[in-house]
Parts: sequence; structure tokens; C-alpha cells
Amino acid sequence: MNPVELVFLGTASAAPTETRNLSAMALRTEGEWLLFDCPEGCQQQMLRSGVSYMKIQHIFFTHLHLDHVLGLPGLIATMQMHARIHPLYLYCPEGWKPKLQKLVSLAPKTDFEILFKEVQRGTVWQTPEYTVSCVPLKHEIACVGYIFLQTGKTGEFQRKKAIELKIPEGPLWAKLAKGEKIKIGPKTISPEHVMDYSKATPGLKIAYVVDTMPTKSYYNAIKDASILIHEATFLEKDHERAKQTLHSTAKQAGRVASETNAKQLILTHFSARHKELEQLENEARQEFGNVEMANDLEHKVLKGDQP
Ligand SMILES: [Zn+2]
Ligand SMILES: [Zn+2]
Repeated sequence: MNPVELVFLGTASAAPTETRNLSAMALRTEGEWLLFDCPEGCQQQMLRSGVSYMKIQHIFFTHLHLDHVLGLPGLIATMQMHARIHPLYLYCPEGWKPKLQKLVSLAPKTDFEILFKEVQRGTVWQTPEYTVSCVPLKHEIACVGYIFLQTGKTGEFQRKKAIELKIPEGPLWAKLAKGEKIKIGPKTISPEHVMDYSKATPGLKIAYVVDTMPTKSYYNAIKDASILIHEATFLEKDHERAKQTLHSTAKQAGRVASETNAKQLILTHFSARHKELEQLENEARQEFGNVEMANDLEHKVLKGDQP
């Protein structure tokens, strides 16, 4: 399994501050970047952090509030200017495709294809190496959280055993590694002969949950995350405001991490009223020990199931 890299392109809610752009995250896997939301200013954040927008094929929109989407037409215009040819896939919650299309119509006509997909729950994109799925959240408008799940290793291929059994290296090895039986002359060889299944390793699970009030309805989808990235717009003293605007407090985010058995919690999507994040961090820590605060342009490289 190859490492996965996370880059926080923005960590502010509603309005940017001097040090924080509006919320978005990029995730690098297998040589491509997946983008989660695309607010205004996102292009510059990508340039500053080394995220290649030409290597973005998928943009997963959590919802269509302006502070999460306004960077899209500009990004498309830049892609066209740089002679992009690869198609671009855009995902948004159910019912919001017409609005997203309208936003895209502000960009110049492109030579590359733009494809739209409405999503609500379950798998939205899949390759042999990973799956992206989504789950409905609870916000003012339709909003989804996204879950990136890396394909785990079912076991370890033992080269020595394969050589002993005189299996020629190449496609036959790959078949056995995938769990298929092979035939060499009259002899059938099962994967168990060359695979050590005690060395199975799960893939990384990364959940991106912004713009929601906490509700158990998304617990199951994000459970056992290697990293839970959760919004923490407010402090506990603004509990009522969080409820009215359908956002979460840091303490609530901590509780979600604890109740869903996350290994690590990264808080993001902070209200501009919080200049110092220490208090938010402390409140989350009352519920869950392993907390980090996301900062703009920060990179995080993850290997295996170990944050
Ligand atoms: Zn937001
Ligand atoms: Zn919102």
C-alpha cells in the first residue's frame, strides 16, 4: 500500500481570516490528488502547498454553500488555459446538480469533459486501490461527509515459496496474490501455498466530516477511522449558536471521535471569532485524547493503518 498524503488547503468556516482560507482538503493517493470542496482562494492555496491541479480528476463537494464552492469556475478556467485533456468528475449531494452546473457555466467552454454525479450514500468512486463513499450529514442544506478507504492487503506473498514450487514470476504470481488458483501442467496451486494470511493489513480509513451538527446517523459510516477530520466551528459556550446554524462544537467533535472509535481526530472549519485555537483543542480533549488542530497548508503523510 502506498502512503497517503493530506493537505489542508483551508480551515476556516464562513469567511477567511489572515491566516486561514475557507475549508478544503486535498488527498494524494497513487499519484493523483482528490479534492474535497473548492472555495475561493483554493487555487492559490494549491500553488502554495504543491498540490497539482492538473492531477485532480475528482472534486467531492460536501454541499453547495458559497464558502465551499466558489473557487470552481476559476479552477476550471485555469485547467483549460493549461490545455487539460483529462475529464473532470464533480460530485455533489442529491438535488444540487443543476446549481453546480450553473456555477460551472460561468467558466469558459472547456476542451475536456466535465461529468456530474449526485451522491447521497454509499460508494461514489472506486479503483482497485481505494474507495470513496459518502454519508448524509445534518446541515442547513443537503450535505454529505466523505470517507476514503484504502484497499487493505489480504496477506503477504512469499516469494521463496513461489520459487520453491517452481511457479514462474509474472502474471501467475499476481493471480495467486489476488486469491485465484493457478494451474501448472496437471498441478493446481492454491493461493494458500504462497500467501501468508496472518500478515493481512487493513487500509487507511479517512473520514472528512464538515458542516454538520453531530448526529448518530453518520456514526456507522465513519466508525474505526484511522483519521477523523471533523468540523469544530464553535466553543461549548456557543453551543446554542452551533445548534441553530447546524454546526458542531469542538467538544461534540471529540465525542464523535470517541464514540466512533477513531484513532485520531483532526479538527478543522473554525469560526473566525477564534484567533487562538487552544481552547477549542482543550474542549475536544475532554472527550478524546488524540486531537490535532488543522492548519492551512499543513501536509500529513500517512503510511499503512498508522497515523
Ligand atoms: Zn462551511
Ligand atoms: Zn455550510
